[in-house]
Amino acid sequence: MGSTSIPCLWITFCLHLYCFLNTGKAQNAKEVILLDSKAQQTEMEWISSPPSGWEEISGLDENYTPIRTYQVCQVMEPNQNNWLRTNWIEKGDAQRIFVELKFTLRDCNSLPGVVGTCKETFNLYYQETDSEVGRNIRENQYVKIDTIAADESFTQGDLGERKMKLNTEVRIIGPLSRRGFYLAFQDVGACIALVSVKVYYKKCWSIIENLATFPDTVTGSEFSSLVEVEGMCVSDAEEEADNSPKMHCSAEGEWLVPIGKCICKAGFHQKGDACEPCGRGFYKSSSQDLQCSRCPAHSYNDREGSGRCDCEDGYYRALLDPPSVACTRPPSAPQNLVYNINQTTVGLEWNPPADTGGRNDVTYRIMCRRCSWELEKCVACGPNVGYNPQQAGLVDTFVSVFDLLAHANYTFEVEAVNGVSNLSRTQRLFAAVSIATSQAAPSQVSEVIKERVQQRSIHLSWQEPEQPNGVITEYEIKYYEKEQKDRIYSTVKSRTTSATVNNLKPSTAYVFQIRAFTAAGYGTYGPRLEITTKEEASAATIVSSEQNPVIIIAVVAVAGTIILVFMVFGFIIGRRHCGYSKADQEGDEELYFQFKFPGTKTYIDPETYEDPNRAVHQFAKELDASCIKIERVIGAGEFGEVCSGRLKLPGKRDTSVAIKTLKVGYSEKQRRDFLCEASIMGQFDHPNVVHLEGVVTRGKPVMIVIEYMENGSLDAFLRKHDGQFTVIQLVGMLRGIAAGMRYLSDMGYVHRDLAARNILVNSNLVCKVSDFGLSRVIDDDPEAVYTTTGGKIPVRWTAMEAIQYRKFTSASDVWSYGIVMWEVMSYGERPYWDMSNQDVIKAIEEGYRLPAPMDCPPGLHQLMLDCWQKERADRPKFDQIVGILDKMIRNPNTLKTPVGTCTRPISPLLDQSTPDFTTFRSVGEWLDAIKMERYRDNFTAAGYSSLESVARMSVEDVTSLGITLVGHQKKLMSSIQTMRAQMLHLHGTGIQV
Ligand code: AMP
Repeated sequence: MGSTSIPCLWITFCLHLYCFLNTGKAQNAKEVILLDSKAQQTEMEWISSPPSGWEEISGLDENYTPIRTYQVCQVMEPNQNNWLRTNWIEKGDAQRIFVELKFTLRDCNSLPGVVGTCKETFNLYYQETDSEVGRNIRENQYVKIDTIAADESFTQGDLGERKMKLNTEVRIIGPLSRRGFYLAFQDVGACIALVSVKVYYKKCWSIIENLATFPDTVTGSEFSSLVEVEGMCVSDAEEEADNSPKMHCSAEGEWLVPIGKCICKAGFHQKGDACEPCGRGFYKSSSQDLQCSRCPAHSYNDREGSGRCDCEDGYYRALLDPPSVACTRPPSAPQNLVYNINQTTVGLEWNPPADTGGRNDVTYRIMCRRCSWELEKCVACGPNVGYNPQQAGLVDTFVSVFDLLAHANYTFEVEAVNGVSNLSRTQRLFAAVSIATSQAAPSQVSEVIKERVQQRSIHLSWQEPEQPNGVITEYEIKYYEKEQKDRIYSTVKSRTTSATVNNLKPSTAYVFQIRAFTAAGYGTYGPRLEITTKEEASAATIVSSEQNPVIIIAVVAVAGTIILVFMVFGFIIGRRHCGYSKADQEGDEELYFQFKFPGTKTYIDPETYEDPNRAVHQFAKELDASCIKIERVIGAGEFGEVCSGRLKLPGKRDTSVAIKTLKVGYSEKQRRDFLCEASIMGQFDHPNVVHLEGVVTRGKPVMIVIEYMENGSLDAFLRKHDGQFTVIQLVGMLRGIAAGMRYLSDMGYVHRDLAARNILVNSNLVCKVSDFGLSRVIDDDPEAVYTTTGGKIPVRWTAMEAIQYRKFTSASDVWSYGIVMWEVMSYGERPYWDMSNQDVIKAIEEGYRLPAPMDCPPGLHQLMLDCWQKERADRPKFDQIVGILDKMIRNPNTLKTPVGTCTRPISPLLDQSTPDFTTFRSVGEWLDAIKMERYRDNFTAAGYSSLESVARMSVEDVTSLGITLVGHQKKLMSSIQTMRAQMLHLHGTGIQV
């Protein structure tokens, strides 16, 4: 075999080996080498078949390091088939294998006399196996990879010398499925030197990217495949929410497409590819923050890696204070506390504390104690004492405390509190005063009972007033015929708590009121009580009935039928609200108001159901909690938080909803009351009534899901957008509310708490009536106060008959609607401004009404006044109100405000053309000014020596002076009212009556 080869060839090879190897590429860091013939310096011992074919020959690389090569050059003989097989190569994790060959090939033309037998290519094969197989080469078991040819078999040197060129060819095999493989080279008669064989696969090497470590990753089996790899956060880092770190390893062993990231945990910040702890005196409260910050004022920490700083001694952080704000402390005591006493009312005023503790949420609270010197002890004043505006949470630096006992000693402590006061255990700091009240008239006689009613007499009894404020020497009973126009009344006096009023007319309605008298004078009259005397027996009727039994039977039958009908409908519609209301069930008129003809959908009180759960499911859809996604808290309801979120019902588009939740630890009653609102709301279906989507009662928390009203409650919305709407827009809102109320009243539902705060507004400015359920009026409405008739009532919004004897009807809702009109037209102004509830009641009773708000069209104010008609039958129905508003919207000219009218008055209910009464120094001077000096003695004799005492007088008081001319009474009263309003305006507090 050696005779046919050309040995001189090897000289050329060896001469050029240095330059061949120099051109080789540096090893790629992303490659894992399985075989590199150049690295092997001992014999490789690959199998050569036949043995005379491929020959293993040593050479030198550029560093003169020996390397192993294989050569063959059987170019003279035809039909060559020389195989060379590598040792078994274990593939490891690889899926795609790269084979890089470096070789030289002689140009056949350069070899003389070899034409026909000389070749210029060789073939590359592989065989996959799970382990080494024998040393025999079975050709048919090999899979051909490619025929390899030289790029260029030689080059011409500068001097005409022929140089061998080193060829580099790379082939890829895969995907591989066995544990390993052999490579084989088939020569068919070429002159080849195989200088190096390198077998490798590619990997993405472990790296840290975005604070996540990605491990070594083998590339995918396909050329185009990317391998997705999850990163692991470096220590003290955490994955960003919903954004876990990922990267992709490409076939070329490169990391591509980083997604998500890790961020340093609280207390740590990023430095290079690691998270380092914040230093002492620094903190980082959240992983979202980038940097550590210095501890805020009055806080510290003395360890590394802190998420927050601790407050210094005596300083605190309120629950909702973020870690970035300074620690604060309770305020010092209020300063310069002063007081004034007016009979049983005490006004307190003070200056803010010298030190607010570093906060701007300072409020004040009042501690009232009544002290008895004999017993040398003080007790808390209790719930009978009133505070205006309130006892705690005062923002302003004044309060008026009323309904104190006459001739009693009190101590008042005024404490300034802020958001951290309840965290501090240091002693409370407060300003205090001790005060003795003066004499005062008795409080109202409110509980009157009709003992006996005859044709011409009525016997009444009553309870002593709650606060007699002295010894009651006499009661005065005032009464008049209800239908009589002039209201001329008579009085009867009694020394005890009962009296009989005689000389009355039969079958006549009378109105009674009682007041008590002590040395301090008369108290105010209690509520009006209406009683009708008995019918006079008519002999003629009896005789004719007796004579005609048929008539009696007919009358009894008709009456019976009517009673039956009322009983049946009364059961269905008798009670309206969740709470039980006795007054609602009394009186035929109430039944008349509630009676609805079949065909009209009627509201059903959920309380008529024995099992309240049944009521809920009758009127409200049970929703699956998984359809509801709570997003954020938007308000606080009576029973728990109110949230906004999304509702996605199967097959429907998802919608925005408000979700009222029932707080944990609720009682069964609270659950019932909470769901009661849903049972009521679920019965309504009107575009101006808030729509119930459903309830969740079978999971926790229990939820009521309502349509979402983006702009929240109407009063706050209007205050936020003061003056920004056109009159037409405002009337449009009012029209919506009236339409919603028309629908509710048509269903027989009486709202009882209609006010702008209970109207919700959506993003299209559509107003909808909300807040259903009686419990809300009682417990939740901050405007509701206890009245003398018992029960809590939002006085400013409520009709007189509802305040006085709980007569709630759709007509009283119309009154409230008038107040809502006023709130809307004045952009959320408080009705009757800062007048006390008692003053409001008194002013209304005396016929005064709210003036038109600024820029309010007169037609709208007239409609308000109509809603505030004393007689409820005279008020318009909601149906009429909608009609009137529609007309106004259709004819915008009717809504034009004449220039110079309807401006906001400087004080409530005040006629601006009257003189300033507060400048008069005596009662006499005042009477002179209004040309009523003739009554000077009457005032003096009754003890009215100061203008303040005059300002408190009622019509009854004026009459009791002996002033009987109605014209004079009116003139005096009008002047007294104006004086009262001016004093009110001047002093900023109500005059207690
Ligand atoms: P409530 O329990 O009805 O008094 O609700 C408390 C507060 O939550 C209200 O003053 C509103 O600001 C808000 N709220 C209640 N219901 C809704 C609703 N359907 N859409 C938007 N906000 C609402």
